[in-house]
Amino acid sequence: MDRNSLINHLKERTSDPWDIIVIGGGATGLGVALDAVTRGYKTILLEQSDFSKGTSSRSTKLVHGGVRYLAQGDILLVMEALHERGLFLKNAPHLTANQEFVIPVYTLWDVILYTVGLKFYDLLAGRLSMGKSYYINREKTLIRLPLLKPSGLKGGIVYHDGQFDDARMAFAMATECLGNGGTVLNYFRVNGFLKDEKGKIRGVLARDLEKGDEYSISGRLVINATGVFADEIHRMDDPLSRPSIKPSQGVHLVLDNSFLQSTSAIMIPKTDDGRVLFAIPWYGKVVVGTTDTPLNLISMEPKALDEEIEFILNTAGRYLTRPPKRQDVKCVFAGLRPLAANPQNPDATKEVSRRHKITLSSSGLLSIIGGKWTSYRRMAEETIDKAIKNRIIESKKCVTRDFSFYNGEEKLTSERLKIYGRNASEIEKLITKNPDLGIPIHRDLPYTRAEIVWICKNEMPVTPEDILARRTRALFLDARASMEACPLVARLMANELGLDNSWQERQVENYNQMAANYL
Ligand SMILES: Cc1cc2nc3c(=O)[nH]c(=O)nc-3n(C[C@H](O)[C@H](O)[C@H](O)COP(=O)(O)OP(=O)(O)OC[C@H]3O[C@@H](n4cnc5c(N)ncnc54)[C@H](O)[C@@H]3O)c2cc1C
Repeated sequence: MDRNSLINHLKERTSDPWDIIVIGGGATGLGVALDAVTRGYKTILLEQSDFSKGTSSRSTKLVHGGVRYLAQGDILLVMEALHERGLFLKNAPHLTANQEFVIPVYTLWDVILYTVGLKFYDLLAGRLSMGKSYYINREKTLIRLPLLKPSGLKGGIVYHDGQFDDARMAFAMATECLGNGGTVLNYFRVNGFLKDEKGKIRGVLARDLEKGDEYSISGRLVINATGVFADEIHRMDDPLSRPSIKPSQGVHLVLDNSFLQSTSAIMIPKTDDGRVLFAIPWYGKVVVGTTDTPLNLISMEPKALDEEIEFILNTAGRYLTRPPKRQDVKCVFAGLRPLAANPQNPDATKEVSRRHKITLSSSGLLSIIGGKWTSYRRMAEETIDKAIKNRIIESKKCVTRDFSFYNGEEKLTSERLKIYGRNASEIEKLITKNPDLGIPIHRDLPYTRAEIVWICKNEMPVTPEDILARRTRALFLDARASMEACPLVARLMANELGLDNSWQERQVENYNQMAANYL
C-alpha cells in the first residue's frame, strides 16, 4: 500500500473513466467501495482526511442489533442488524469478539421486563445468536461484576453482543479494496462536480491535501458517503438542496480497568434522562458512554461538552463502588451520529431515525446517509443495487456476505498482533531481526516500535496521528501517553518515509494540539 503509486495510477487513468467514485472513507464509504470492487466495478474512494477519522473511529465499538431500538419497537431494524452482526463476526474474526453484558436489575418488574425483552432479542438473532440470555441472582451478578454497588440489587440479566475495533475494521476494508483492484486515497478532498451539458454528474474535482495538486476525475457514478458532511456535498451538487442530516453527538470516556475489574460489560438500559449507558472492557481499559446531544456544529474534531462528561461520570458513579473522577479519565472522545433527518421537517428530533436512507438526485448523485457500523455491509449492498436498478451501472451480483477479511492461518506468537490482519507475522520477523524494535513506544501503551515501522511500510499513514489514533488506538486508550509517545513515533515515521526534522517538529506540535482535546 503506497500512496505515491496509487496517485500515479490515478494520473494514468485520466482518459479512462472510473465506474464508481466514492466520496468518504468512513464505514459507509469503505463498505460501498468494497462492495463495488468485489462485484468487479472499477472503483476509487476519496477521503478528505484519514480513513475513519470521522465518526467511524469514535463509536461505542459494538456490533449489535441494538437492545435500545428493540425497546423503541423498531423490530425490523433490530432483526436486520442482528443478521449483519452475525456476518460481521464471521467475516472479521480477528477484529471482533463475543462480549458478555450484564444488565443489573433492582426491581421485580425489571427482572421480568429485561428477561422477556432479551429472550426476544435472542429469538430475532435466530441461528446467528451469540449465546442465550438468562437471569442470574444477586450473588452471581456480584461475582461477575465485583465493583458493582450491591445496595438494592436484585440480580442481573446476562446477554451477548459483538464488540470490535472500529478504526482497524475500516483499515481492513481499505486494504481489501486495494487487494481486490480498487483505489483508495486518504487526504484527498472532493471540492466540486464535473457535469455535462444536461447537468448530469460525470465526475468530481478533487485536491490532494498532502501535495496540493488538483484532479478532475471522471466516473459513471458518484456516491456521497460522507456521513455528517453529506449536506455539504449535496450543496456542491445543488446549492438549494434541503438539509438531510440531523447530527447528534455521542461522548465516551476511557477509564482504567481497575474501575470495572471484569471481562463482562455493564449495560444500564435507562439512566436518569432515559439514555442507555455502557461500561465495556476494551484493550485492557473500560469504555464508558454514551450521550445523545443534538448539535448544529459539524466538525472533524467534535469536542465533548462539560455536561456530557459530568453526566457519564455521575451515572457511572451511581453504579460503581469506586466512582470515577475527572482526573481518572484516560481519554474523552466525541463522535457525531449522521442521523437521517426528515427533509420536510429537519428540526423534528422525534422524526430522526437510526435507519439509513439512500437517495438519488436529479443530477445522478447517489447518497447514502445514516445507519450504523454494524449494518455497513447491507447498506453498501443496497446502495450499489439502487444504482443498478436505476441503470447507471450494469448488473453484477453482490459477494460480500461471505467475504472474509482474515484467513486465520497466520501463526503469531503475540495474539494481539492479529489486529493487523494478513501478514502480521512480518511484525514479529522485524523484531527477530532487530530486537530493539520489540521495545514498546511507551510504558503505558502495548504497541512496539516494530508495529510503527510495519505500519509505515504497509498502511499508508501520512501523519503520526494516523498511527496513534487509528492504525493503533493509543490516543483512545491513553491520550497523555500517546502525546508522550508522539516524538518517537514521528522519528520512526521520518526514518521510514524520508522526512526531515522540521517535519517531525511540526507533526508533534499538531498532534499535541489535537490530542489535548482528548485529555
Ligand atoms: C457516539 C457514537 C457511537 C456509536 N456507536 C456505534 C456502535 O457501537 N455500533 C454501531 O454499529 N454503530 C455505532 N455508531 C454509528 C456509526 O459509528 C456510524 O453510523 C458510522 O461510523 C458512520 O459512518 P460514515 O462513513 O457514514 O461517516 P464517517 O465515519 O463520518 O465518514 C464520512 C467521511 O467522509 C469524509 N468526507 C467528508 N467530506 C468529504 C469531502 N468533501 N471529500 C472527501 N471526503 C469527505 C469525512 O472526512 C469522513 O471521514 C455510533 C455513532 C456515534 C456517533
